Amino acid sequence: MGTRIDGKAFAETLRGKVGQLVAELSVEHGLVPGLAVVLVGQDPASQVYVRNKAKQTLEVGMQSFEHHLADTTTQTELLQLINELNHDARVHGILVQLPLPQQIDSHAVIDAIDPDKDVDGFHLVNVGRLATGMPGFVPCTPLGCMMLLKEQIDDLTGSNAVVVGRSNIVGKPMASLLLAEHCTVTIAHSRTRDLPAVCREADILVAAVGRAQMVTGDWIKPGAVVIDVGINRIEGESGKTRLVGDVDFDSASEVAGAITPVPGGVGPMTIACLLQNTVQAACAAQNVSFSLA
Ligand code: NAP
Repeated sequence: MGTRIDGKAFAETLRGKVGQLVAELSVEHGLVPGLAVVLVGQDPASQVYVRNKAKQTLEVGMQSFEHHLADTTTQTELLQLINELNHDARVHGILVQLPLPQQIDSHAVIDAIDPDKDVDGFHLVNVGRLATGMPGFVPCTPLGCMMLLKEQIDDLTGSNAVVVGRSNIVGKPMASLLLAEHCTVTIAHSRTRDLPAVCREADILVAAVGRAQMVTGDWIKPGAVVIDVGINRIEGESGKTRLVGDVDFDSASEVAGAITPVPGGVGPMTIACLLQNTVQAACAAQNVSFSLA
């Protein structure tokens, strides 16, 4: 039975470190990091995410600025708000919750965010920085995956890593991070031939697909470290729904050396990394060196 990687506990520790740094910044530099979160419309899942982000931002002692806009908001109105936040010195990080309503081009909105406040790491400047190995903001979910991975494997050099999924927010940045750690990286996707065989070559397998329990134990190399990014809601017993990942945890954990559960694995890491990125942005804005204990 593989080790169950406890992302919830790791995220709690990380939030504690962020909170400690926030307290020090306040005392030593009079600096209070601020995160602005913008939600357009009333998507129920997005409302839950935004509420959790704001709550955890306040819990670590940072300032939270929530902007809830109607789903009829125009692109011009949203760009105007982004412009104001870019110029607001209290705001060090800006996050626009995706997806946006169809009348708004999300690329135009993300590219309007000041790259130095782009704590989601989605701006082209930060995408380019990650791809070229320059310091910048790394998207929160892959950053969290990497922290969990490095806790399991000290040195990733030479490992065969397979990332299933090539989205801009998870798959591609995850592959860049693994490459930067000197892994041999394969990115698989919906057109990959014989996906189970590709996955069986992986010392590190990251599943970011959005297909409930697709990756089963017979796809996994014995001893591999498996990071399950997927969040899928399925019908459980007695008609209640439950969350599962892209990996079939029961069969996979029989074979894997270590594996993240869903829930309680990658999920909690995402907001903790967002808080970390916001403190990093605040330090950079004030020319204060950034390091977590
Ligand atoms: P996405 O944009 O829909 O991308 C899914 C990727 O999976 C695509 O590259 C797609 O290939 C590939 N794919 C789809 N079906 C496949 C199949 N049958 N075989 C192989 N590859 C297949 O999704 P995403 O935004 O990256 O998210 C992926 C999952 O992670 C979702 O469950 C999402 O809810 C979850 N997620 C979790 C967090 C978190 O905080 N834990 C954050 C973000 C996302 P093509 O490119 O060929 O279409």
